[in-house]
Amino acid sequence: MSDTIFGKIASGEISADVVYEDEDLVAFRDISPQAPTHILVIPRKPIPTLNDASPEDAELLGRLLLAAAKVAQQAGIAEGGYRTVINCNAGAGQTVFHLHLHVLGGRPLQWPPG
Ligand code: 5GP
Repeated sequence: MSDTIFGKIASGEISADVVYEDEDLVAFRDISPQAPTHILVIPRKPIPTLNDASPEDAELLGRLLLAAAKVAQQAGIAEGGYRTVINCNAGAGQTVFHLHLHVLGGRPLQWPPG
């Protein structure tokens, strides 16, 4: 398992406010929320960035998106609207190098993002 903070959350070594988990994925609340609902969905597999995903990860990536929709529904933001974001590399704002999908909602969201 990766030793990023998210790898440690995925392995249970570090606690988080987990809202969904299964054999391959974990979803938990962001420690510094940028919206009333801000959840991160990660694969347990330690893929550092989206650039490092391979064709063999295709099903896992699809399930990551489906889990995002599920947690949005559970959080009550599905109908009002929400945004999913993957920051890829430092230039896009990635700070934790374990692939993660942000799920943000619960307030009006502007476009384009900064
Ligand atoms: P990035 O900037 O890499 O796309 O997103 C990383 C996110 O992880 C940030 O929104 C940040 O607030 C969140 N984060 C960083 N460390 C922790 C942590 O220890 N626990 C939780 N729950 N979120 C974290």
